[in-house]
Amino acid sequence: MTPPEAVRERALSAALPAYVYDLDGLGAHAAAIRAAVPAELFYAAKANPEVPILTALAPHVDGFEVSSGGELAHVRQVLPKARVAFGGPGKTEEELAAAAGPPVHRIHVESPGELRRLAALRREADVLLRVNLPVAAAGASLRMSGPFGMDAESLGTCLDLLAEAPWLRPRGMHAHLASGLEAGALLEVAAQVLGWARSWSEGPLEVNLGGGMAVDYRDPGRRFDWAAYGAGLAALRRPDEVLRIEPGRAVTAYCGWYVTDVLDVKRTHGESYAVLRGGTHHLRTPVAKGHDQPFTVLPAGAGPSLSGPVTLVGQLCTPKDVLARQVPVERLATGDVVAFAMAGAYAWNISHHDFLMHPKPSVHYVGVRSG
Ligand SMILES: *Cc1c(COP(=O)(O)O)cnc(C)c1O
Repeated sequence: MTPPEAVRERALSAALPAYVYDLDGLGAHAAAIRAAVPAELFYAAKANPEVPILTALAPHVDGFEVSSGGELAHVRQVLPKARVAFGGPGKTEEELAAAAGPPVHRIHVESPGELRRLAALRREADVLLRVNLPVAAAGASLRMSGPFGMDAESLGTCLDLLAEAPWLRPRGMHAHLASGLEAGALLEVAAQVLGWARSWSEGPLEVNLGGGMAVDYRDPGRRFDWAAYGAGLAALRRPDEVLRIEPGRAVTAYCGWYVTDVLDVKRTHGESYAVLRGGTHHLRTPVAKGHDQPFTVLPAGAGPSLSGPVTLVGQLCTPKDVLARQVPVERLATGDVVAFAMAGAYAWNISHHDFLMHPKPSVHYVGVRSG
């Protein structure tokens, strides 16, 4: 995946390491998703909450999903008028109090205990009940493992609680059941979630189908099939239903590049290594997900070089500091610039920046909203 010209130019002039974000590409991608899918599009801010990212997305989304009081305060400050949905397990009293009231569009309730605490605030709020259904997709059965959402028995308890708390308006269901699913599998899940949600509801139903659209780091050119997903949802949706999705990774992964240069090349124990300025404390994604981060070499170096399979490592004193393993290159020389693609989501913001006290990357935004 070669970077767009504007990203390439910036990459070759920036102080390295650098993060370079393509805001035009991001805006166009979000607009295309929204056009393809007959559902409201909320962006899951936890994938990348940088201010220029949120403001570039704002015209192309219907709102933002936040998973903590910190994200809630951040999105409100950056985009005071944006619609916000607040979800996530383990909401504190302070978080519930901050979320209850007109500025938050929807609160996703994760358990009967949480609903009780929300009701005790006696503030008006619109809620979705987050369910953790056992569903099957493409032969596999899935559910979010861990403390996310509730099963059918807890849902019954919640409906009883809601009947006694008229200041809370139950709007429907929320289900974020898996991540990394392709369109077909995600549609199978959506069909089951909708069928189930309809069985619980009398009035017009609202269903948030979550995020989790697949991002394939092994093949950057292959994208989630938003057109097929949109067509499938259009067939599933009933006219009086409001559907909503809240993807994160599949929205912002492609707009970010982590760019750095080669400090040293060497062979040890029969393997070739390129040691890069920076490392996984800036881009933890390949370690977190267990993949090779796709990259492009921008030749700029005149130093010693390697060819063939090479392992790209950073400056950290740990064997885990690997960005890509045994990837064939035509030529990689000391001084060359390496641009890692797909570094726009769960990248800088999930990395352990302070480990070893190396300098932080410079950050650049290219596109209409830069400057
Ligand atoms: C993380 C999360 C998302 C976004 O997931 P992606 O895999 O980034 O699309 C959406 N909804 C909830 C509740 C989440 O926790």
